[in-house]
Amino acid sequence: MPSFRRRQFLLTASAAVGASLLKGCSLDPPSPDSMSAKAAPLSLSPATTPEVSGIKLGYIAIAEAAPLIIAQEKGFFVRHGMSDVKISKQASWGAARDNIEIGSGGGGIDGGQWQMPMPHLLSEGLITKGNRKVPMVVLAQLCTHGNGVAIAKKHKGKGIELNLAQSGGAEYIKGLAAAGKKFKVAYTFPKVNQDFWLRYWLAANGVDPNKDVDLLAVPASQTVANMRTETMDGFSTGDPWPSRIVKDKIGFLAMLTAQVWEAHPEEYLSVRREWVEQNPKATKALLKAVIEAQIWCDDPANREEMVQILAQRKYFNVPTEFLRGAYEGTYPMGDSLTPVTDEKTKIRYWKDAKGSVSYPYQSHDKWFLTETVRWGFQPTGLLQEADRIVTQVSGEKYWREAATELTNMNPNVTTKDIPTNVSRGIEKFFDGATFDSTKPQAYLDSLAIKAIKA
Ligand code: CA
Repeated sequence: MPSFRRRQFLLTASAAVGASLLKGCSLDPPSPDSMSAKAAPLSLSPATTPEVSGIKLGYIAIAEAAPLIIAQEKGFFVRHGMSDVKISKQASWGAARDNIEIGSGGGGIDGGQWQMPMPHLLSEGLITKGNRKVPMVVLAQLCTHGNGVAIAKKHKGKGIELNLAQSGGAEYIKGLAAAGKKFKVAYTFPKVNQDFWLRYWLAANGVDPNKDVDLLAVPASQTVANMRTETMDGFSTGDPWPSRIVKDKIGFLAMLTAQVWEAHPEEYLSVRREWVEQNPKATKALLKAVIEAQIWCDDPANREEMVQILAQRKYFNVPTEFLRGAYEGTYPMGDSLTPVTDEKTKIRYWKDAKGSVSYPYQSHDKWFLTETVRWGFQPTGLLQEADRIVTQVSGEKYWREAATELTNMNPNVTTKDIPTNVSRGIEKFFDGATFDSTKPQAYLDSLAIKAIKA
């Protein structure tokens, strides 16, 4: 990304947290004394020595990126022979998309962190310039939970919460539309996770996201500024942004994605297919490093150090207090901002209540493609193509091989940690709806609110 644009973004992002910075919170690197030892490099055999030692991975400054940042900071990439990995902060999801199109050879990136189904849309040429296909491979899921919808404080007391159909919030939002003051809710990139979470929640409560509200893509820092001036009503995004909105007293948390779908798929590590095919051992080295970083991230003993690392100016550029809650599963919920601690809503990187977080289940990719059809982003024909697309883009075999190799290198990885099925089984949502990846049409038929296009 051009350095001018990057500087502009950083300035804007800094301005958004200006008030908190004045309190004297440090964004500097933690002192070496407070850091644990880095992972020790392994002596690699010819079979595990990567073909190349470097790759350029993009990330967005949200909690989902932690395994990439920790793999870099705590020496896990180096441990597996990847001593020249560059992780590159992306100004926006649009910038990440542009940078993967040109690849690292053109000054962009080889892969990195993605919302879903961005790797599939890139592979099919559905979000690229001139519809050029940029084949991708999904290698691992980075995390679950850690996302939510924040609502501007002027809407306090109107029942905007998880079950807003029962609390009066749904009627309130529809009333605003009837009065010509449609509720405006933002996400950071259209037709992916944060858009889907918002749509799922609203539709399950009888609010039609295409008719009763205005949904739009707005950069995170701008959304916070707009919520402050009351020109934006809500924001669907990942930590630390929802916590930042609450801590800055701009708004409140209406719901967490963990409440909508426990242990839901969130963001993923995905790399260009040509890189993966040219460098299969380096691909597995990357995966081994990311898996070990995920295990490190989930260990409560490392939580404070992780918060210190992520908060730094070069990474998230936020006060540490904006991150601690999410890692403890403590969120100030609802109008009253009552702190609620629930183990079930904690961000997880390696294991959650349903098993593996890191393994990239194909059944989850299928849900994202089905949701794409549900909202008319793609015609129903995509559903017939979904299995082909999911299989082509899935790198689950690389994950499986990398995890198997790790069972000989890391006592925290055993064969029990390696899922035996590409499907996690039938998924259940907060409103009782179910998704069976072998019957996407039955799921679509069961939903009252949708915008399917032939
Ligand atoms: Ca997210």
